[in-house]
Amino acid sequence: MVAAEGILTARGGMTSHAAVVARGMGKCCVSGCSEIKVDEEGKTLGIGQYTFKEGDFISLNGTTGDVIKGEVRTVPPELSGDFGTIMNWADDIRTLKVRTNADNPRDAAQAVEFGAQGIGLCRTEHMFFEEERIPAIRRMILADSEEERREALSFLLPYQKGDFKGIYEVMEERPVTIRLLDPPLHEFIPHTDEELHELADFIGKPYEKVAKKAEELHEFNPMLGHRGCRLAVTYPEIAEMQAEAIITAAIEVRKEKGYDIIPEIMVPLVGSKTELTDVKKTVVATIDRVFEREGVSFPYLVGTMIEIPRAALTADEIAEEAEFFSFGTNDLTQMGFGFSRDDTGKIIKEYKEKGIFEDDPFQSLDQVGIGKLVKMAVEMGKKTRPDIHLGICGEHGGDPKSIDFCHRVGLQYVSCSPFRVPIARLSAAQAAIRNK
Ligand code: PEP
Ligand code: MG
Repeated sequence: MVAAEGILTARGGMTSHAAVVARGMGKCCVSGCSEIKVDEEGKTLGIGQYTFKEGDFISLNGTTGDVIKGEVRTVPPELSGDFGTIMNWADDIRTLKVRTNADNPRDAAQAVEFGAQGIGLCRTEHMFFEEERIPAIRRMILADSEEERREALSFLLPYQKGDFKGIYEVMEERPVTIRLLDPPLHEFIPHTDEELHELADFIGKPYEKVAKKAEELHEFNPMLGHRGCRLAVTYPEIAEMQAEAIITAAIEVRKEKGYDIIPEIMVPLVGSKTELTDVKKTVVATIDRVFEREGVSFPYLVGTMIEIPRAALTADEIAEEAEFFSFGTNDLTQMGFGFSRDDTGKIIKEYKEKGIFEDDPFQSLDQVGIGKLVKMAVEMGKKTRPDIHLGICGEHGGDPKSIDFCHRVGLQYVSCSPFRVPIARLSAAQAAIRNK
């Protein structure tokens, strides 16, 4: 994806991680185009009557999903002139803040240029895909003991700290929400024999042992499996490493730049208050230790995603532990509807054609159903903790209709990928006028 100019996939949907990551990178992506036929061996791509060979041009419109034969000339967007004036008018009117989903300093800087007021979601798992890090994360996942896991984590700690420092430096004093590790583990496990052999060599274990462990980690429903806070509950040392990186990076940037950074640490995939209690304990104990070691102390927040229906239903309890809620409406839609985010593009397309759905619920929030869960959680959360911070970081945070809904239910901010920040600013202003 890093090498690609644009991304077109036969499978997936609006909130598949391919689409989400591409959007974050500002790369055009059409995901779930079921009409394309890819012949990997022949290196051709068939769409209807056309066949494209390697090197042929196609153009993509990621907003509409159009795939266009040939090369469409484009220019990079600029926020200047009249566009800038309209954006400034919008900022004067809107009450919703606009943050961004960004996982690296480059995307964060791009978002700030587009007017982002903070980071609403930093997906830390995206920091581990780089070439020199992925062996270490695989080693951690495949570790047989806590000791071995800690060893791999200690290799990752300086990288994580560096990542967060880079982000804080770009964001200055704007709020930054960093989410603890949340990937379905299968995203990191090597799939091919060749990769398994490489990994076995790297960690100095027999190939058979590594292959067996990888097999044991196989899950039938990884999206409902060993991910989110379940990782931090079962392997607290991962959350410890991340909390240490988040806080030491803040200590250093505070010292070096003088910024008053208040990190926001977000626990993903919480379904019950007790899960959050458990992970928060690990995070707080780690930070206490770091503060004592470094002889400093400053405020920070611990909150949660609300992305499992049960979390929305028990938001009053969860707010006893959570200082903020960020609605993860990608998973909330997936689990509320029972539609896989990664597999239902084709079905939803047919539903739309048949008039069963007006919109793709992964694109525009289903306000009647999933929205009811959001509204309930907002009300229940506020009852327990009147000053609770409330935002949204699912892809709906960049969708105008959903932004109108967020305004109406009283969220304080929406968070979306950098290139959607301008449209979110405008939509937030329109929502303020519409709902006066
Ligand atoms: C979500 O579920 O809405 C979310 C923002 O998290 P992710 O897309 O990383 O699962
Ligand atoms: Mg999620």
